[in-house]
This record gives sequence, structure tokens and C-alpha cells, in this order.
Amino acid sequence: MPQAHPVGLHADVNKMPLRDRFLSLVPIEGFETRYASEISQETFFGFPLAAIVSAEENLRSSQVPSIAYFSMEYGLSATTYNAMTRTGPISPKNESESHRVFSNLRAMDYYLVVEAAHRLDLPIYSGGLGVLAGDTLKSASDRGVSLVAVGILWNEGYFHQNFWFKDGQMPQADEWDPATYPGLIPLSVQVAIELKKETVHLRLWKYMVYSVDRTHVVPLVLLDSNVESNSPSARVLTSQLYRSDNAHWKLMQRTILGIGGMKALAALDYRIERFHLNEGHAALASLEWAKGRTDAPIEEDPKAPFVYTCHTPVAAGHDRFPLILIQEMLGSEACRWLSRFGQDVEDEKLINFTLLAMNTSRQMNAVSKKHTEITRLQFPHIRDRIHSITNGVHLPTWISQPVASVLDRFTERIGDWRRQPESLRNVQSLVSDSDFRRGIWDAHQTNKQLLCQLLKRWNIQPHAFTLAWARRIAAYKRPSLILHDVERLLAIARKVGPIQLLVAGKAHPNDDLGFTHINEMLSAIDGLESHRDDVRVVMLENYDTYIAKLLVSSVDVWLNTPLPPFEASGTSGMKAIANGVLQLSTLDGWMVEAAQQPVGWIFGWQHKIEEPIDERNLRLTQDAASLYEVLEEVVGLYYQTHIGDRVVLESEWVTRMITAIAAASVFNTDRMVAQYETNIWGLRPVLP
Ligand SMILES: *Cc1c(COP(=O)(O)O)cnc(C)c1O
Repeated sequence: MPQAHPVGLHADVNKMPLRDRFLSLVPIEGFETRYASEISQETFFGFPLAAIVSAEENLRSSQVPSIAYFSMEYGLSATTYNAMTRTGPISPKNESESHRVFSNLRAMDYYLVVEAAHRLDLPIYSGGLGVLAGDTLKSASDRGVSLVAVGILWNEGYFHQNFWFKDGQMPQADEWDPATYPGLIPLSVQVAIELKKETVHLRLWKYMVYSVDRTHVVPLVLLDSNVESNSPSARVLTSQLYRSDNAHWKLMQRTILGIGGMKALAALDYRIERFHLNEGHAALASLEWAKGRTDAPIEEDPKAPFVYTCHTPVAAGHDRFPLILIQEMLGSEACRWLSRFGQDVEDEKLINFTLLAMNTSRQMNAVSKKHTEITRLQFPHIRDRIHSITNGVHLPTWISQPVASVLDRFTERIGDWRRQPESLRNVQSLVSDSDFRRGIWDAHQTNKQLLCQLLKRWNIQPHAFTLAWARRIAAYKRPSLILHDVERLLAIARKVGPIQLLVAGKAHPNDDLGFTHINEMLSAIDGLESHRDDVRVVMLENYDTYIAKLLVSSVDVWLNTPLPPFEASGTSGMKAIANGVLQLSTLDGWMVEAAQQPVGWIFGWQHKIEEPIDERNLRLTQDAASLYEVLEEVVGLYYQTHIGDRVVLESEWVTRMITAIAAASVFNTDRMVAQYETNIWGLRPVLP
């Protein structure tokens, strides 16, 4: 139901002024009072308006095949990449995001704020899955794909993390203000989901994801149940990402994304060829699609428009919901259909969302070669439809300014890496160019200085070996592995040279095991108090894309410790190699592919495909021993390379940094989206 709009009366739309054309396509709630000054005849929050108009027209056109991409979360790093501006006032809630620090440098306070408080990124993500979704939109935009994304406007974000003095993590609501967030606009179109007990109304918001050259746009539509016409209990459904107090709450969030998302696309008049589900959260979308159709989709139906990216490495991680709950919410017709496509193998009274997504998709992909093998073993009956498309990162977002300048200085040898990321492989041919080696090393030092400046109260030194562990805190990622045997760590530092360790990450508020790991780290850090000249540990609160970008570009080594084969892909290491930061990792996820080249060092137990998998055996003692053994070698090479103020440019270390940057030519979302086009979408909806 497109809104009637006075400008729609124009005889020839193409002759309308640009802003009127835009408004006829994107009617904004409260435009005159709140957004008119942000959207001029030519610009949208400082960006070219024409790009939006053509994206919106393409999405409505029957001539251009379009994709709808569904994801529960999006990490757009909107403040570090293509940051939009607002001329009107911005709520202080959006203006800053602070990070406090917990360290073994007791002389200072435990609680200090990192100075560079930065503007809040759109707080609608929790970690890697969301950042991947955000990077996917940016690369789709760069490639000129006609794509619209669907997500949820989380009114309280994920959560704001505070540490309690030595005692663990205290989650708080992330307070922010959508109405003054630069670039975010509320639409006057609303949709409603009819449930058995009540109707849930959804407001729609839009955020525009611009390409690196600002000529293309991917609109992101965000669903929001916080509207006055809803009951108080319905209004808070979109308050907190991954709120999981009970199954009803979780199922409602999935209903909003899947069913509400499909209704939103219809209400906006978009013509969609392929619906792409990023993970199974939106699997109910196919139920909405099938409504009123007699030819419900079957696995082999070439007309079925769904495709699916599976990120879940093991069956235990799959979402399952009781049929009885679905019956109460969505009715018996929905149950019949969902049982047909999503019945759990072990318990027929449950609907398994992974199976549902698989059985209603024409094609799907797993997110690394290793993950593909595991997934094919688990689902042999559909193995032919499971493609292998390794995740990536959006290089223009994650490559730091100093490294980008060096690459730009060598453009003639490398090529236009922003628009053609695969050209980064040419970096390998510069491996014996001493000017380039110097340039990359200096760029890294500049980044490291920045980190030291930020953490100067903790006395982080630019010459000391520095490594970081930063990601979502979950048991299988083994966050405290490096602190497993503190005596051994100290012995390495005393023998080879000082070690600086930076740690950051949030644990889901209901993840007790995650809390245990945080507490273990906090007390290990506390225990190192009197050894801070040998091993200095700094734990940063509130890990987000800002801290991620800071760390992946400034430390010497990126530590990754998942228990194989539980890391389906992993992406933070890809951000690090793009900046010449070396990997110290177990052999899992994307590293299985990356380790073909010397981009760092591998340690720990390795999983063979036929072996049973068990998350309860974390192999901490065994793998920590292996980690320390390799670490000693790594720290040794570092101090042979970095001698006081001097660098030995011929060092193997610098060669590896260059190999790492060259490997980023593969581990990026431009390559990934190109593979989506050929392998799972089966069409190349690229604009002229
Ligand atoms: C990249 C990123 C992640 C993913 O880290 P992994 O090591 O791949 O799990 C998580 N959180 C943030 C904020 C990120 O930027």
C-alpha cells in the first residue's frame, strides 16, 4: 500500500525536482518539522540524493532483478565509514560512547575512561554476525547491486557493558535517540502483523548505505514496534537485541523480522527476485511468502525465491521453538506449513529454524571451507545445495588511514584497491621493495602510536610486543586461554621481552559461562599487578566497531583462540591482516584457508573432519601449552625485528606483514558478494 502523495500527480516523474522525486518514493514522517533541513534539493544528510532516487526506482522496477537481505543485526560502523552529518541538534545520547579500562596497573585507578570518546555507532548489532551484515551491504552498494536490507531498530541496542570492580560484567540498556541519529529517517508507511491474540504495529525506519564513491545506495529498512498503537508488552519487543528471557520473546522477535520484514517490502512496493536470509532468524519469511499460495515451495522448486547463509557450526546451536507456542501465536495453518518444512529431527513437537531455512531455500552457503565440510556432513541429503562462500570484510571500512596512504602511494603497482579489492594481491610483488617495506612498517608504527596515546595512562609502550584478543565472549572462543598459565606467560616475558595484552569483548547477559570467563580474566589481571613491567594487561569495556578498528590496526599480533571446529568463519582476523597485523590462531574457520600462506602462526589442537565434536572439552591446558610454545617464538622474532628505536627491515616479520595484506585480496566482502551473485542468488543484479 504505497502512500498517496501529492507529488505523485506529476505527469512526468523524471521532470520533477530531485527532492520531490525522492519524497514520492520515500515519504518521511514529520518531514517538514524535523528532516526538511537535512534533505536539500541535492543532498541527503550531506550525501548525494540522486543515488537514493535511482536505488529506490530500481527496487520498484520490474526491469531490474532485486535482492532483499534479512539480518537480525547490522554493524555499520556508521561513524567511521561514510559518516553522515546532521545540521539540527543531535541528542547527547548519540554523541558519545565511552570505554573504561580495567588493568593490572593498580597505581592508576581501575576505572578510567579512554579519552577518545566517540560518537555512537548505530547500536543495532552485537558482534561478528552484524558486522558481516553491515560489510555485506557496503560491498553490495560498491558493486551497484539493487539490494534492500531488512532489520530491526533496537531501541535499547544490545547492551552497554560495565565491569564491576573485579567482579564481572554489569549490562545496562544502551540509550540512544533514533529521531536525531544522522541519516536515520522514520517513514510514514507502517505495517501490522495479525497474531492470534493481538495485532502488532510496526513503524519503518530507513538508513542509507552508500558505496565508497557515493554513487550507489543500499537502503536498510528497520522495523520498530515501539509505537503508541501497540500494547505495552508489544512496544518493548524491539527494545533489546537477542533478549532471550523466554521462548515467547525470542519467537516474537523472529516473527517481526521474518513476517514483518516481508510485509514491509510489500508495503514499500519493492519487487524482489531473491530473499536472502543471513542466518535462520528470519526463516518465518517463507511462511508469509507462501500465504495464499497453493504451490507451497518444496526443496527442488526452482521458483522458490529464498536463499540462506548458515553461520551455525553445530546442531546444538540451532534455534528450536515448541509447536504449541507457534500455534498460540500464529495459528494452526502456520503450524501445518512449518511442520512440513521445519520439523526437528529429534523432537517432532519442535520447529527447527535451521532446517526450516534450509528446506525453503533454493540455494544456501556455509561460511568457510571447513564449515562447509561440517555442514555437508550434518545434512547429507541437501549437500549439493550447500555452497562454500567464505565470509569477508569491507576493506575500505577496515583498512586504517596510514596503511591506505601507503597503498595509495603505490597505486601504479597495486591498482584501485578500494573499487577492486582483488588488486591487493599485487602487494605481494612489492615484497622486496624496501621503500614499500619501510612504508608499511611506518604506517603500523603510526597506528601503534595512536593506541599508545589513547592508553597512555596505562603506560602502553610503542616498542613493546603487543597482542590483542577481542571479540564476543563465548566459551568456545576461549577468551582466557592466554591467561591460563600466568607463570608461563611471565616466564616468556622475562626471557624474551615484555608483553602487552589488550582484551575486549561482551558476554551475552544470559550466558553464565561467558561471565565465568570474564571473571577469570579479571582476576588473572588482578593477580598480575606486581608484574606489570613484564606483562601488562589492559581490558577495555564495551567492545564495538570503533575499538575493533583501533585494535585490528595497531597491535602487532591478533590472537584468535577458538576450539575447532566451532568457529564457522571468524572475521576479525581478516580486518587485522588487511592492516598487516599478523595472526596467532588455532586452525579453524577462515584460518584453514588463510594458513596456506604465512600470514602468522598456528597453534593448538586440530580437528579432523571425521572426529566427534564436543564443546564441553575445551582442551585449555593442552592448547595453552601449545600457545605459549609458539608465542615464545613470535615474541622472539618481534624483538629481533624491533630493536629499540631501530627496525630490521629485511626481517621475516615485515615479509609476513606484506603477505598478510596481499591475502586480504581474497578475504573481503567484495569477493564474497560476487560469489553470492553467481552461486546462490543465481543472478547478477548489477546496475549499469
Ligand atoms: C569483527 C568484529 C567481530 C567479529 O570477531 P570474530 O573474531 O570474528 O568473532 C565482533 N565484534 C566486533 C565489534 C567486530 O568488529
